[in-house]
Amino acid sequence: MRIILLGPPGSGKGTQAQLLVQRYGIVQLSTGEMLRAAVAAGTPVGLKAKEIMASGGLVPDDVVVGIISDRIDQPDAKNGFILDGFPRTVPQAEALDELLKHKHLKLDAVIELRVNESALLNRVETRVAQMRERGEEVRLDDTPEVLTKRLASYRNQTEPLIHYYSERRKLSTIDGMMAIDEVTRAIHRQLLALGAVEPKTHGKTRARSAAKAAPARKAKTAKKSAKTPVKAAKKAAKSKKAAKKATKAGKRIVKKAAKKVGKKKAAKKTARKAVKKGAKKAAKKVTKRRAKR
Ligand code: ADP
Repeated sequence: MRIILLGPPGSGKGTQAQLLVQRYGIVQLSTGEMLRAAVAAGTPVGLKAKEIMASGGLVPDDVVVGIISDRIDQPDAKNGFILDGFPRTVPQAEALDELLKHKHLKLDAVIELRVNESALLNRVETRVAQMRERGEEVRLDDTPEVLTKRLASYRNQTEPLIHYYSERRKLSTIDGMMAIDEVTRAIHRQLLALGAVEPKTHGKTRARSAAKAAPARKAKTAKKSAKTPVKAAKKAAKSKKAAKKATKAGKRIVKKAAKKVGKKKAAKKTARKAVKKGAKKAAKKVTKRRAKR
């Protein structure tokens, strides 16, 4: 399965991507994460991206397209992936179409997480507070000023992708204002409806559908077993009749045969008697002739 998560900063793309990774066993390809790793490692890409990211701008298209193309070729992406934060511009979307075509891969869906802009600042502030609590390093671009700039670049450069993918019948919009698990369920339902996942992909779903199917299955079996005795009785009655018929026919044959045998026996007896009689007559004749002499 290959999907794109689309939404403004703070819409919950990262959170949902991680949950989907656990659920479907596919990888999350987050350009933001990859770029942050490149910055931390001080690679040439990282050096290029550092300032742009800190100010809330967008890293050049060719840089991110190159990163994504290499990442898709890694063995762990063979099962599928979730693109989080990419594409972010129409040229990036076009480049993605091209490279997927070249790699003979199909995009299953683009999930847009729609949120009220007024909620975004709050969400990002909460995220910052939680990261501080956990002792994690806070993102340089998670400040109210930079967030405003990130939102502006989302509106100007990324939002046109909603039109781009809806024209290509790939877009599914989900209400990103719902609770985290409700959003996950809504995404799952969408993916099911699109045929991007099998109902059995997830244990819970499988158990639920099995439970749903059980009464129906039971009813079917009951119906079948209710029919069975009647069928069996009919079959038995039929075979009884057949047996009777067979017995009658058998009896007739035996009778005929017996008659034949009887006739034969009688004929033999007569023949034997006739022979005896004939022999007696002949013997008498001989005795008579001898007496005359
Ligand atoms: P968010 O989605 O919350 O804004 P990300 O972690 O996705 O944050 O991205 C952080 C920053 O990384 C962006 O503000 C941008 O500078 C850079 N970036 C990430 N993905 C892209 C991309 N596809 N194209 C250009 N720049 C990107």
